[in-house]
Amino acid sequence: NKKLADTIWFNGKLIPWEDATIHVMTHALHYGTSVFEGVRAYDTPNGPVIFRLHEHSQRLIDSARIYHIQLPYTVDQINDACREIVRANNLKSAYLRPIAFLGECGMGVTPKKENVSVDVAIAAFPWGAYLGEEGLLKGVDVCVSSWNRAAPNTIPTGAKAGGNYLSSYLIGYEARERGFAEGLGLGRDGLLSEGAGENLFLIQKGKIFTPPLAASILGGITRDTVIQLARAEGIEVIEQVLPREMLYLADEVFMTGTAAEVTPIRSVDGIPTRVGGPGDVTKLIQKRFHGLFTGETEDRWNWLAPVN
Ligand code: PMP
Repeated sequence: NKKLADTIWFNGKLIPWEDATIHVMTHALHYGTSVFEGVRAYDTPNGPVIFRLHEHSQRLIDSARIYHIQLPYTVDQINDACREIVRANNLKSAYLRPIAFLGECGMGVTPKKENVSVDVAIAAFPWGAYLGEEGLLKGVDVCVSSWNRAAPNTIPTGAKAGGNYLSSYLIGYEARERGFAEGLGLGRDGLLSEGAGENLFLIQKGKIFTPPLAASILGGITRDTVIQLARAEGIEVIEQVLPREMLYLADEVFMTGTAAEVTPIRSVDGIPTRVGGPGDVTKLIQKRFHGLFTGETEDRWNWLAPVN
């Protein structure tokens, strides 16, 4: 893999990027048995911070819990390791990728408990805007995918597990092949769910709507952030099931994610949103979100964990 930083945290040790390798018979490679996180560090006037670090580490452990994967580390230890890997690579802003996976456990799909070995790694490297700087500014064109998200009680979308990303891969691949920046998945019931790697929001008459956890989504940490920032502005946020056509009738649409941050959507399936680009509500949310890292938005939720 292309070298993106000097050092990787691997099972409690800092090792050179090029030495962080695993065997081809790794369980997770065959069966998707990994859980992971995407986390961002931002350079702020008070030094580098990791955004909502505790919530990300907790979600990693919660994803593992759903899959009966015992992490050999506590939330606090994962938090410390995340800080350590940002410092070790001399990074001020970064994307962090903690991952835990079933390693060498034999070839059976469900290894015996005594044979289970869990590896944990954390990489940190520079990463810009996921859907491009221009996307953040002007909005992106997206489509509804012909692929649905995993149905409830099949592969749990509430866990951030490696295997789930086969769905994201198909949705994202199809969208890019058709010339769109990203694809949106519907749930099994045909109702709105989420993007390949982002949660979905739409705005109608000044109110914000977003699909609920039961709509086959990942409970995004940026989603939660945006809900709280919007409510702090006195904007009503409603979590409810939404039919597909709401996308075509919305004044504004945007997506959220650690990688995508707050990305405006300017058209869906070739139909421009009513505003046709980033609207006032989307721009306000973007401003409040980025303001957390410039100091313009007061961090009254204690979301910024100092690296040092
Ligand atoms: N849904 C999916 C499928 C994702 O991969 C992500 C990115 N982690 C999100 C939503 C957004 O989650 P978060 O804001 O916690 O990054």
